[in-house]
This record gives sequence, C-alpha cells and structure tokens, in this order.
Amino acid sequence: MRLLIMGPPGAGKGTQAKGIAERYGIPAISTGDIFRANVKNKTPLGLEVDRIMKSGGYVGDDITNQIVADRLAEGDAANGFLLDGYPRTLAQVEALDSVLEGLGQSLDAVICLEADTDEVVARLAKRAEIEGRADDTEEAIRVRQETYVKETAPLLDVYAKRGQLVRVNGLGSVDEVGQRIASALDERG
Ligand code: ADP
Repeated sequence: MRLLIMGPPGAGKGTQAKGIAERYGIPAISTGDIFRANVKNKTPLGLEVDRIMKSGGYVGDDITNQIVADRLAEGDAANGFLLDGYPRTLAQVEALDSVLEGLGQSLDAVICLEADTDEVVARLAKRAEIEGRADDTEEAIRVRQETYVKETAPLLDVYAKRGQLVRVNGLGSVDEVGQRIASALDERG
C-alpha cells in the first residue's frame, strides 16, 4: 500500500497514520515528526526550520522535498508507505510525482480526514495544554489553519481528479475513525 493522509491541522492525521501503518505493515512517514526531531536535536536542519514551524508557516519546498525523497529511498519504504503531512503544496505534489515515477511506483489512495475548523481548533487548543507543542499557540494555530486552506486544501482537487481521493469523516473516537478509514480502503480493494 502506498498512501497519503491529508486534512487540516488537528484532524488527527498523526494518530490515524500510526493505526493504518500498523494494519498494513508499512512505515508512517510524517514530515512534521522529522522536522520536530531535528529541532529537538538542534541539527542544522532543525535550527533552520525551528522559527518557521513556531510561526505556523510551511518549511520551504526544496528542503521538504529532499527529505521525503531521501526517506522514500530507504529500504523499509520499498514495499509501501504512508505519508502524513506531505505533500502540502502543488510543488510538493509535483516533486512526489517525479520521485514515485523514478521508483516505478504509484499511489493507491489519498485519505482525506475531514473535520470543520471549529472542531480542529478546539482539539489543538486542548493538545496545547497537554503536550505544549511549540506551534500550538493561538496565533500559530490560526496561521496553520489559514495556510492549510490556502496552500493545501486545493491539492484535494488534484487527487480527486486522479480518482485517488478517499474522504473520511474525522469526527468521533480514534477507533471509530480508524474503522471508517479501514472500510473505505477495503472498499477500494
Ligand atoms: P499539523 O498537521 O498539526 O500542522 P505537522 O506535524 O504535520 O502538524 O506539521 C507541523 C509543521 O511542520 C507545519 O506547520 C510546518 O511548519 C512543518 N511541515 C510539516 N510538513 C510540511 C510540509 N510537507 N511542507 C512544509 N512544511 C511542513
């Protein structure tokens, strides 16, 4: 299985990605997690992206594309993967297309976790209290939602036109949503 999971910040992509990856025995690759690990370890990449992440903006396409291309070339991704949080811009869609073409691979489905803005903002505010993530401040949450609507939401049309988009209602318990994703993927065969 070669999958993408998309949806607004706070829709629960990371949580569901873990479950789906386990179910299919594929690695869940989260660009946000990769960046956060670099920030934590104060690597040159981490120092470069720290401020932009805190603001809620997107890291540059060139850096992001390179990281994903390198990651997909690793052995554990050869037989499948789930990308979480990538692509987020049209330039990233194009970069992913060419990486996959180069590997002779193609996507099986693009899951879109749907949740309205009020719900996701409330979830992120709650997570801020629990986890204290640097980009879960009120201002950064607002910027992330706006950036998503402007830069990333239009990509859903691209994948819908390719017949790859699977829309799933992201409201409900983690298990309920996980079940919905599993049935939606099963239905596609
Ligand atoms: P969320 O979906 O809640 O915004 P992520 O962990 O997916 O959280 O991403 C956190 C941050 O990491 C983003 O706001 C952005 O700054 C950066 N980031 C992650 N993926 C990408 C990407 N594909 N392109 C650019 N920036 C990214």
